[in-house]
Amino acid sequence: MYDLVLKSGTVIDPKNDINGRKDVAVLDGKIAAIEENITSDLSKRTIDVSGKIVTPGLIDLHTHVYDGVNGNGVKADLGGVRAAVTTMVDAGSSGCDTFGGFPEHIIPNNHTEVLPFLHICRTGLATTPDIFSPASIDLDKTIETVEANRDVIRGIKARMVSPALEIMGMEMPRMAKRAAKESGVKLMVHIGDTEHRYDADVIRDLLPILEEGDIVTHLFTANPGGVIGSDGKLVPEAQEAKDRGVWLDTAHGRANFSFDIGARILDQGLVPHCISTDLTLPGRQNTVHSMTEMMTRFLAMGFSLNEVVAMSTVNPAMSLNEADRLGSLGIGMQADISVLDIKDGNWIVYDVVGGSRTIDKAVIPVLAVKCGKVFEAGWGPRTWGWDPDQV
Ligand SMILES: [Zn+2]
Repeated sequence: MYDLVLKSGTVIDPKNDINGRKDVAVLDGKIAAIEENITSDLSKRTIDVSGKIVTPGLIDLHTHVYDGVNGNGVKADLGGVRAAVTTMVDAGSSGCDTFGGFPEHIIPNNHTEVLPFLHICRTGLATTPDIFSPASIDLDKTIETVEANRDVIRGIKARMVSPALEIMGMEMPRMAKRAAKESGVKLMVHIGDTEHRYDADVIRDLLPILEEGDIVTHLFTANPGGVIGSDGKLVPEAQEAKDRGVWLDTAHGRANFSFDIGARILDQGLVPHCISTDLTLPGRQNTVHSMTEMMTRFLAMGFSLNEVVAMSTVNPAMSLNEADRLGSLGIGMQADISVLDIKDGNWIVYDVVGGSRTIDKAVIPVLAVKCGKVFEAGWGPRTWGWDPDQV
């Protein structure tokens, strides 16, 4: 007897090359069967999802969920299981001095799985700016914190922003890489200086520091330090990084996503791997809105639904070295599933520099299944719910 069957949805599982009408059965928190027809007498609970899309649980690779500590932190479940997202990476909200609250207060108090990256700045994002002196980094304590929380912390985060670079130069990302390497985790680097103060070509010195498995986030930023160099061309180091296995993420946030920059990067042949939000409380209200609206933005840029699902499931799972547990619907995988509606309309989605795209399909969250447990989507970030703006 199965615990749960999601019946009659269109399953899109890029990893396993599934795109079609199937029933999905869950038992003991794991995927137990994916078949043409699983009758309801075989399950304790059957949910009819006909007309809906069923995908592996969405993974948001860049969020900020240290709510109650950092002012802008969003409650994980709000952008997580109540938004059809089953796993969220916290991208460096905490550092070695402030990490303790994550395993104590955030992870056990949310149904959404939270995988934290530790900021190279000892106070994480509790201070603004984060790094304001060389003493903002404690390399030894950072490494000790990863080692003492090896089951929880997935990487080190560094932000290529002012004034950190003015104070420390490239020593800052190099120290972050050293911390990651010595503690055996990966490095995620934010590109794009929101203060517009540093040399745009700093990206050319940064990217060679990154190794296979490391992650670049904010690929489509219009701020100085993005992958479009001062001559308007894609810097060669960007494709070289991708070729040696660096993961490219496109976190939107409040200041680091431009449709036009994205189009120029794509036109020059560099395709990112992952879609993410960089969700914060104000970002949820004003700019990003949701992971599903990010998926709508990528549909509006010309990506197929299958590609958008891959960029939100199996690709982030691989970038986290979690593809044997997350990101696809194979038998025995953790039962993390998202149910989405593709809603027809005349929609318009915005970036953060005044750009927009129109699209006739919007991705809307319906429910999440996390380790076999069902969570209906909440009301959504707008007064009217989840829909994007109408043209
Ligand atoms: Zn961020």
